[in-house]
Amino acid sequence: MLNIVIFGAPGSGKGTQSARIVEKYGLNHISTGDVLRAEIKNGTELGKTAKGYIDQGQLIPDALMIDILASVFDSFKDSKGVIFDGFPRTIAQAEALKVMLAERGQEVSVMLDLEVPEDELMTRLIKRGLESGRADDNDETIKKRLLVYHSQTAPLIDWYKADGKYCHIHGLGTMEGIFADIAGAIDNVIG
Ligand code: AMP
Repeated sequence: MLNIVIFGAPGSGKGTQSARIVEKYGLNHISTGDVLRAEIKNGTELGKTAKGYIDQGQLIPDALMIDILASVFDSFKDSKGVIFDGFPRTIAQAEALKVMLAERGQEVSVMLDLEVPEDELMTRLIKRGLESGRADDNDETIKKRLLVYHSQTAPLIDWYKADGKYCHIHGLGTMEGIFADIAGAIDNVIG
């Protein structure tokens, strides 16, 4: 199985590029943000809990996220591989992902870090908020999410470097150009 972690700050293009990866490599896609937004839309208990955190730009507690992730992962049958989009976001989640995959005889194949400068992230997120109406794409929440990214999520860059899975992707440019770099990195892993 090809297990790809697509990593980057909010607005770095993880969702857009994941869709292309899914199309080219036939992988299953887990976007934890999409899973949580669906729960909110369906008015579930989990959705109600998640909404409080999401609206504040904060992360959902690790234990809850890890359970959700394992159950979505196990729902895939005969999978060629999975793209993890928006997970892990903390060191605890990365450690839990490693354990969960090892228990299933799997491992992360590569972590793709889509790096985009901060001013460009702000511009993209504000634009997305205007177009999609995503409740957490407003000025104040965007700033909080970027702070959370730097304090809790960015340390994963060194964690994945130490784990030997890190691959840097320059996240500025055309969608096609960025995808070409991503596909090159994935083809390298496939060998
Ligand atoms: P995203 O669509 O990936 O930007 O996620 C939107 C929001 O969902 C985040 O700001 C968090 O509040 C929550 N969320 C998504 N994935 C995770 C995760 N792996 N851990 C904790 N919270 C998450």
